[in-house]
Amino acid sequence: MPSNIAVVGASVAGVEAVLALRGAGYDGRLTLVGADPELPYNPTPLSKELLTGDMEEDDIRLLPEEEFENLDVGLRLGRPAKGLDLAERRVDVDGSPLPYDGLIIATGSRAVRPRGWFGREGVHTLRTLDDARRVHEAMTQGRPSVVVVGAGFIGCEIAAAARHHGLDVTLVEAAASPLLRAVPAALAAPVVRLQEARGVRVVCGVGVARLLGGIRVDKVELTDGTLLDADLVVVGVGAVPATDWLDGSGLSVEDGVITDATLRTTAPGVYAVGDAARWPHPATGDPIRVEHWTNAREQGRRAALNLLDPRAAQPYTGVPYVWSDQFGQRFQLAGTAHAKHLHFLDGGPDDESYLAVLGDGETVVGAVGFGGTPRQFNKARRLVADGTAWAEAVSRHE
Ligand SMILES: Cc1cc2nc3c(=O)[nH]c(=O)nc-3n(C[C@H](O)[C@H](O)[C@H](O)COP(=O)(O)OP(=O)(O)OC[C@H]3O[C@@H](n4cnc5c(N)ncnc54)[C@H](O)[C@@H]3O)c2cc1C
Repeated sequence: MPSNIAVVGASVAGVEAVLALRGAGYDGRLTLVGADPELPYNPTPLSKELLTGDMEEDDIRLLPEEEFENLDVGLRLGRPAKGLDLAERRVDVDGSPLPYDGLIIATGSRAVRPRGWFGREGVHTLRTLDDARRVHEAMTQGRPSVVVVGAGFIGCEIAAAARHHGLDVTLVEAAASPLLRAVPAALAAPVVRLQEARGVRVVCGVGVARLLGGIRVDKVELTDGTLLDADLVVVGVGAVPATDWLDGSGLSVEDGVITDATLRTTAPGVYAVGDAARWPHPATGDPIRVEHWTNAREQGRRAALNLLDPRAAQPYTGVPYVWSDQFGQRFQLAGTAHAKHLHFLDGGPDDESYLAVLGDGETVVGAVGFGGTPRQFNKARRLVADGTAWAEAVSRHE
């Protein structure tokens, strides 16, 4: 049983790990290290309710400050980890050594910032509370023309929030369709129609060549030569694992910290979770990394329990699940949407809402819903979690 645990990364996965450790009766030393100076918060409303003004900053805190005191957690916020010495079992926290005998790495991911796009005022990514404050301020203080670059979940949500404030919005996506990383174009079609119906100009299949302006940005030039007016540019072109601080540590890192099925890294007593971890998919064994809130929470918990009792360690077998809220409609995906077979349980690509399952020929491997009720989606999600036979799922419905 470890007696001095460090959790590095104070967000969804890290806070859940801390709660699980104390919940399981761990009463040794516990330190939570975070690069962000803010009291830990949930990032998911940053592109939704926090931008529209439907939530305040206090609503998104993961735990009140006094709760960290009650749990006897040593908070080191605003202090990035800069290195890891596996042999000495020490984390370099912004220049001071933090010894550990158990370590959970939960440093998540950070926004991709294409070279040459930043430096002018009015250009942002949206990953942290501070980013959300700046984007919200720009949206509510007379920035009429907004260009959102990247039509993944976060980009689509930012476009919706900008329309909520009555702004002129263009959503630019280099791929042929929004949300293409998550779902095939047919399943994104109702989302695109909703965006357009609410006044978002959606431009797909063309990239951004450069951003123009003086001190402030004022135009975005697309690769086909089109010039878009831009008082505010929000870039949502993906994220990469925040694992640079582990360079040279000897841990195996390849698009995320590599773990086994129990989330243990290549070093004893060291676990990795959430957006920063790459673990073997329970069905295929292939290493996967996902950037979803539920996964981060569940892995934080699983790793904490496994660290406390490695001999009884259990594999993490959660089915990846993500949601996105745009214009009051919820999009949900469980498992994978890139599969051979697609079957609509309700509605279809030409409808305002739908519920679909996906299969690899043998079992249900994914469920996607747009609009509809949570109950309906949960039923489809269960088909994925249970690995229901494809023929059975389809015939049950017909
Ligand atoms: C704007 C936004 C909206 C989202 N919406 C949804 C949604 O609707 N649904 C959904 O399923 N998912 C959503 N996500 C994704 C979800 O929030 C993430 O998957 C989840 O937060 C991952 O949790 P994590 O704890 O692994 O990492 P993160 O939340 O990325 O947190 C990592 C923490 O580690 C800290 N850190 C980084 N480097 C260091 C270091 N060297 N030392 C110390 N600390 C460090 C960071 O400051 C951060 O606080 C959204 C993400 C964002 C940014």
